[in-house]
Amino acid sequence: MKPQRTRSQERIFNLLKTMNRAISAQDIYVELRNRDQNLGLATVYRSLDALKLEGVVQVRTLATGESLYSSVLEDQHHLTCLNCGQSIPIDECPVHQLETELQSYHHFKIYYHTLEFFGICDRCAAAEEKEKAGTTKRF
Ligand SMILES: [Zn+2]
Ligand SMILES: [Zn+2]
Repeated sequence: MKPQRTRSQERIFNLLKTMNRAISAQDIYVELRNRDQNLGLATVYRSLDALKLEGVVQVRTLATGESLYSSVLEDQHHLTCLNCGQSIPIDECPVHQLETELQSYHHFKIYYHTLEFFGICDRCAAAEEKEKAGTTKRF
């Protein structure tokens, strides 16, 4: 049975499909306003919830607590730096096979999964090293 989507849900879903990155609800609200498709922020959140349950939208939560939404077609994982917050996309999905196995073993329809790696990027690591070296060198 194809779920009956509201016009707001359609707008948001179409927007997410055209974005090639995950965006926050606030950004969705702004993007829609830029396209003359104004929706209230509360409607954006409500529609996102409905699309999530439908299994076509996924959400990933950043270390900052911010939630980013994207269309489920994209199975993308990231390395996120805890210091500067930059997210580096990784090419492959390390758990794709596991998902297939879980699905058949538990007879559970998996819509999406999230997998995040947190740490320090090389730029921040280098800056930290420099800082350490600087503080030990007293004049
Ligand atoms: Zn960093
Ligand atoms: Zn994946």
